[in-house]
Amino acid sequence: SAKARGGGAYHFFTKMMNESAAARLAMENDLRDAIKREQFEVYYQPKIHLATGRLSGLEALLRWNRPGRGFVSPMQFIPVAEETGLIGKIGEWVLRRVCQQIIEWDAQGVSPVVVAVNLSTRQLIEGRITETVANILRETGVPPSRLVLEITETVLMQGMNRAVALLSEIRRLGVQIAIDDFGTGYSSLTYLKRLPINSIKIDRSFIRDITTDPDDAAITNTIILMGRNLGLRVIAEGVETPEQLEFLRAHDCDEIQGFLISEPRPPAEIVPLMEQLEQAGQTALY
Ligand code: C2E
Ligand code: MG
Ligand code: MG
Ligand code: MG
Repeated sequence: SAKARGGGAYHFFTKMMNESAAARLAMENDLRDAIKREQFEVYYQPKIHLATGRLSGLEALLRWNRPGRGFVSPMQFIPVAEETGLIGKIGEWVLRRVCQQIIEWDAQGVSPVVVAVNLSTRQLIEGRITETVANILRETGVPPSRLVLEITETVLMQGMNRAVALLSEIRRLGVQIAIDDFGTGYSSLTYLKRLPINSIKIDRSFIRDITTDPDDAAITNTIILMGRNLGLRVIAEGVETPEQLEFLRAHDCDEIQGFLISEPRPPAEIVPLMEQLEQAGQTALY
């Protein structure tokens, strides 16, 4: 009967729900011990200046090698870390690890100009982020100007005044701020004027069809012009093809980042790439 079928569907549904709740709980438990068990690794992806093809910086991207499951995407575990409050500890670990890495690279004579670290909304609004960042910079000896913090527009949804105050505090340390995934949030353009930021990163979803979709081309071009007029550096993320690079260069985008240049790589693999990109007149891309 229909009722029986409905009941079957209901049981199937609750079983799935329970399984996913169980999977989430298991992830939460594993995540809780991941730092202690040294399962995190920071990968790095280069950004380059379009005008010169030279390295402009790196973005740090967290990787979790979960036992028995291999690498889990940050898209899966960062939200869990946020909801459970574990993001505070994890985020602090990432910042410290990145700053230590900068010092290690300096000692090897291959210094990335700046390294960007992603901050989640909860990290920004709940922790004592300014204090945490200041302590880690002092402890490791990294000059503040070599650190960029990337935040998404969702931070602003928690309250504009608070966001401006927090970001101003961080800026006063000398650390740079970038708006990540720009164009995907809900914020109005007027906030850009009030925010103490250095750069904006055009979201990958606009870059993907830039050479075939006139709307994406128009949006990207408009963001580049607006950024320039506001005195902000504009970075395109997710650049995968030479055609996309050509479009962005023709429209005077400042920097690009994407698989065309390199996927995110572990520290040992990024060193030769940095050396190659640091050289003036390198030709791999041009
Ligand atoms: P995001 O900050 O926007 O980072 C860019 C993401 O796009 C990265 O994914 C990167 O691997 C990917 N990507 C770069 N170039 C290309 C490309 O050409 N094509 C394509 N298809 N993808 C490209 P990933 O590493 O999986 O990270 C996903 C997101 O997880 C990040 O997005 C960021 O929001 C978050 N995340 C990563 N590491 C951290 C961290 O340490 N802390 C926090 N709070 N969030 C992090
Ligand atoms: Mg980012
Ligand atoms: Mg992004
Ligand atoms: Mg993103």
